[in-house]
Amino acid sequence: MEFVSAGSVDEALDKLLSYGGDATVLAGGTAVLYQLRSGYLSAKVVLHVETLADLFYVRRNGATEIGALTCLRALAEADELGEEYSAIRSAAASCGGWQTQAVATIGGNICNASPSADLAPPLLAHGAQLTLASRSRGSRSLSLREFLVGGGRTRREPDELLTAIALEAVPPRTADLYFKVRRRSAMERPIIGLAVRLTLAESGERIDDIRIAVCGAGPVPFRAQEAEAILNGQAVADDAVKAAGAALLERASFVTDARASAAYRQAVLPRVLAHVVKHCAARAADSPS
Ligand SMILES: Cc1cc2nc3c(=O)[nH]c(=O)nc-3n(C[C@H](O)[C@H](O)[C@H](O)COP(=O)(O)OP(=O)(O)OC[C@H]3O[C@@H](n4cnc5c(N)ncnc54)[C@H](O)[C@@H]3O)c2cc1C
Repeated sequence: MEFVSAGSVDEALDKLLSYGGDATVLAGGTAVLYQLRSGYLSAKVVLHVETLADLFYVRRNGATEIGALTCLRALAEADELGEEYSAIRSAAASCGGWQTQAVATIGGNICNASPSADLAPPLLAHGAQLTLASRSRGSRSLSLREFLVGGGRTRREPDELLTAIALEAVPPRTADLYFKVRRRSAMERPIIGLAVRLTLAESGERIDDIRIAVCGAGPVPFRAQEAEAILNGQAVADDAVKAAGAALLERASFVTDARASAAYRQAVLPRVLAHVVKHCAARAADSPS
């Protein structure tokens, strides 16, 4: 196996073009190194991009954009994300321990495409739009929703580098929350992860827009549009929240693994949804309009 390092984004794109499918990008390496050592992944070339400082940033300049090589600790502490994107900060803070967060990147979390990636639900809830760059075709933009295919696969082409993640603007009277169900004290992936972004109508009594996104409840993290449709335009009442929970379960599928049983996941998911929706509605009512 050959190990090569890129000194600039341009050089990384040149190398990805020349090595094609033989190259595996190495950012923080917290997923790739384990996969290489365990034989789950084999690579002829490992392309180290972690030191490309141009892709390490959180910018709030009208739109909010995050560089793909921003580490999770920096994301957890990013003042630029403010209260509006608090779900992204708390998801980053929940990934592994601080040693992992100090090197693991947001781009790696997305491209690793784990069904239980912690960053996926809050990024889906905030309508994340990805920029993928290639030497031969330039840059293209696609939503995280389109990017994640399932079973660890993505729509990334072998010569592409994920460079940036843009977030949708947050309207007034909005609150978000990421809730991670995990074993007590465990520094690991979630059993279930659920993010909600909820905007109240001007009257403050009804939901104007709700986004619900989940990981650990199927082969790919997803937006639960059926559950969202039940709650949109409604007051936050127990009946509506219960119906949304039932719709979410219809869409989800569960496995039993070392962390929890399928039955536990199924039982806990609607309860988490109810808790998070009510919490977000209360915070949105208190937020500046
Ligand atoms: C101890 C430990 C605890 C963990 N806990 C959690 C957890 O709680 N929650 C969680 O979600 N994950 C967890 N993980 C998994 C992992 O840390 C995260 O998914 C992390 O964000 C991956 O980022 P990375 O930079 O290390 O990615 P890498 O390992 O470098 O790469 C991961 C994948 O993405 C590709 N890639 C990376 N960057 C780019 C890019 N810019 N463009 C194109 N492709 C790219 C790589 O080729 C590879 O396929 C844990 C891992 C460890 C070792």
